[in-house]
Amino acid sequence: MITVLSGGTGTPKLLRGLRRRLPDRDLAVVVNTGEDCWVSGGQLSPDVDTVLYLCAGLLNEQTWWGIAGDTFACHEALRSLGEEEVVRIGDRDRAVHLLRGELLRRGLTLTAATELIAERLRVEVRVLPMADQPYATHVLTDDGRFHFQEWWVRHRGGILPRGIAWEPPAPPPATPEVLSALQEADAVVIGPSNPVTSIGPILACSGVREALRDAFVIAVSPFIGDTPVSGPAGALMTARGFEPTSRGVLSLYADFCDVFIQDVRDPVGVPGAVRADTLMTDPARSEGLAEIVLELAGPGAGRLRS
Ligand code: GDP
Repeated sequence: MITVLSGGTGTPKLLRGLRRRLPDRDLAVVVNTGEDCWVSGGQLSPDVDTVLYLCAGLLNEQTWWGIAGDTFACHEALRSLGEEEVVRIGDRDRAVHLLRGELLRRGLTLTAATELIAERLRVEVRVLPMADQPYATHVLTDDGRFHFQEWWVRHRGGILPRGIAWEPPAPPPATPEVLSALQEADAVVIGPSNPVTSIGPILACSGVREALRDAFVIAVSPFIGDTPVSGPAGALMTARGFEPTSRGVLSLYADFCDVFIQDVRDPVGVPGAVRADTLMTDPARSEGLAEIVLELAGPGAGRLRS
């Protein structure tokens, strides 16, 4: 079995490839919940949704969020009633958020709610939120402190980040399901997700780093030179005091990373790193990188599809 640690863009692209090489039941995905928030009565869990929709064959792979071909009637109706939602939520996407919100209000944990939604979407990959308690990522700026969604979606990441903080400040425990998935994995794969806001919160959950030190871990860099392939990882790495390069990424994973993969084009040399084409611009390229990851993971790492 392969266990993947994921945010909502870079790692799902790799997961798209892994799913072409392994049966879904041989994959578990531990997903960041630091960007979760309530919107209009529904619980938005953006990274969990992206992974679920990908595995259900529903994902909008142009944007890497939401459901392909979704409509926005409810969002527009709310707008005409004077409600500006932070995030533009599609109608079918909203149905999932409303169901999740309802399940949480009924007392289910986020893990149990996710399992039920996955079952109803016929998803066989094990999708595991990192924790059942909130741990919200906030961006600190000269204009104040913003929930990540406020900063990234409403302000389009345009306000210079000075630091990152989490609410509550103390990280939650990783769920028992997450710890088992890390312990049972033949290899753990950290895809090219944002090391600060996607992988950082997962690593902060108590028990995760210890479990990773005992696992065989392969990580893929989201940087080429001093620029991430997409998104705000550069500014956020700088705000945290880390070099915004592959070298900086590895420094965050150094105590547990066994194999580090960086792009063939990356001018920043990381000693010992494996070089590969990491740009997953289409499903075939995702599969190409997944094949390299699985070769590095060794013959015990799941059953390859023939
Ligand atoms: P978020 O939850 O939407 O922020 O998404 P992630 O954290 O999962 O992924 C964002 C990161 O993915 C960014 O730092 C990008 O540099 C990286 N990324 C996106 N596409 C690719 C790709 O094709 N290859 C690599 N190496 N990195 C990518």
